[in-house]
Amino acid sequence: MDKIMLVTGGSRGIGAATCLMAAKYGYAVAVNYRSNREAADAVVAAIEKDGGKALAVQADVADEAQVVKMFAAVDDELGRITALVNNAGIVDQPAKVAEMSAERVAKMMSVNVVGPFICAREAIRRMGTQYGGPGGVIVNVSSAASHAAGKGGAGTYIDYGASKGAIDTLTEGLATEVADQNIRVNAVRPGVVDTEIHASGGLPDKPEQAKSKIPLGRVGQPEDIAEAILYLTEAQFTTGAFLDVDGGV
Ligand code: NAP
Repeated sequence: MDKIMLVTGGSRGIGAATCLMAAKYGYAVAVNYRSNREAADAVVAAIEKDGGKALAVQADVADEAQVVKMFAAVDDELGRITALVNNAGIVDQPAKVAEMSAERVAKMMSVNVVGPFICAREAIRRMGTQYGGPGGVIVNVSSAASHAAGKGGAGTYIDYGASKGAIDTLTEGLATEVADQNIRVNAVRPGVVDTEIHASGGLPDKPEQAKSKIPLGRVGQPEDIAEAILYLTEAQFTTGAFLDVDGGV
């Protein structure tokens, strides 16, 4: 059977490293991006250079119509997916709950929670045995901020922490709900990883500052997380599992 993976937010950071590693595991890879086409094209080019198959697909995961269109494009170009990595996610500027607008919280939930839900829905409709599929796997990218290790994002962005808490619950519930359709659902919970997400939230120095608090003495690299994602993708008897990849925090 062909292995086909869709990685949301596959154009940069953890998603890009996951796409590159997935290609090495023999997946044809759909590289989703929201706005940075150039970055997605670079990931596709790197995979093709090594003899792999990849496709750049635009969609804002928070937009249902765009997600539906993206899955249809992947069906046409690569075939029915066998693996979904719900990786696309955002942070916002540091703020305390006492300062948060409803608009900010709604945007966070829309990208980080509603997006993964509708992507999971589209994946189940393709992979699930109830829908004529062979089964498959969904890996959700949560965060240490979802639980005690990251203190729920206290002091910087509890809206982000809460969105990842929802991803943990989605993982646990969905793993049970679709097990009889031969779909596994797992999650990684990264600690601080060296990507551009910190600068996008106004904290470019966060990785440098976090280092001293991490038992392994360094922040994560995108490849550290990709490795865990690929493990959860391949491990055929593992479902409903959380892998904390945070250097021992
Ligand atoms: P990043 O470097 O900022 O990359 C984000 C990726 O997501 C880009 O490919 C971006 O595409 C895409 N994206 C953003 N919003 C999107 C949307 N609405 N629809 C579709 N794609 C969208 O982020 P990262 O650090 O790799 O984070 C990836 C995931 O890991 C996120 O879920 C994040 O919460 C989680 N995480 C990260 C860390 C960390 O320390 N880095 C720690 C724990 C968890 P464009 O460039 O086209 O916008």
